[in-house]
Amino acid sequence: MGLLIVGPPGAGKGTQATELAAVLNIAHVSTGELFRSALAAATPLGTRAKRYMDAGELVPDEITVAMLRERLADSDAARGFILDGFPRTVGQAETLDDLLAVRGLTLDAVLELVVPDDVLVQRMLARGRSDDTEDVVRRRLEVYTQATAPILDHYRDRVVAIDGEGDVAKVRKRILDGLPPRVLAGGRPTDGR
Ligand code: AMP
Repeated sequence: MGLLIVGPPGAGKGTQATELAAVLNIAHVSTGELFRSALAAATPLGTRAKRYMDAGELVPDEITVAMLRERLADSDAARGFILDGFPRTVGQAETLDDLLAVRGLTLDAVLELVVPDDVLVQRMLARGRSDDTEDVVRRRLEVYTQATAPILDHYRDRVVAIDGEGDVAKVRKRILDGLPPRVLAGGRPTDGR
């Protein structure tokens, strides 16, 4: 099973994707997290990604796609996965579709977290990540609107829009209620729960 969670920076994608991955027993695949780990470990990839991340810009596809492809080949992703932060452009979405198609896979649902801009800015400034300064936050919102939001049209036949305002548990419930039944059935752990 393949899920994608999309939404502007600060919408809560990472938090919700982590919880959904646990509930559905699938892999959480976050390109932002992969970049942050690479950065913390000071790998060449992390070093190359840093200046883009610091500026709120997209890391070039040549780096991002190779990293994503490797992550999807990990054994835990064979059970299914929830993508968080990839794809971020229509070009990346097309690359992803091709990558999945060769394995006979496709995305089952695209969850769109909808949160008003003023709430996003407040949340991001509160979490204090190094790329969460006001200028960078503004730039990341712009990049989302210009480059990433169009992927919602690309996946329009499977977008489920979720109200992302309110506390984590409330939003999680809305997501679980909004998931197509076949996703829940397919993603249940096989221990009879
Ligand atoms: P995130 O944790 O998803 O907010 O990502 C943090 C930063 O990592 C972004 O602002 C980008 O600089 C970079 N990044 C994450 N995912 C991608 C992607 N799919 N394409 C390009 N850059 C990305």
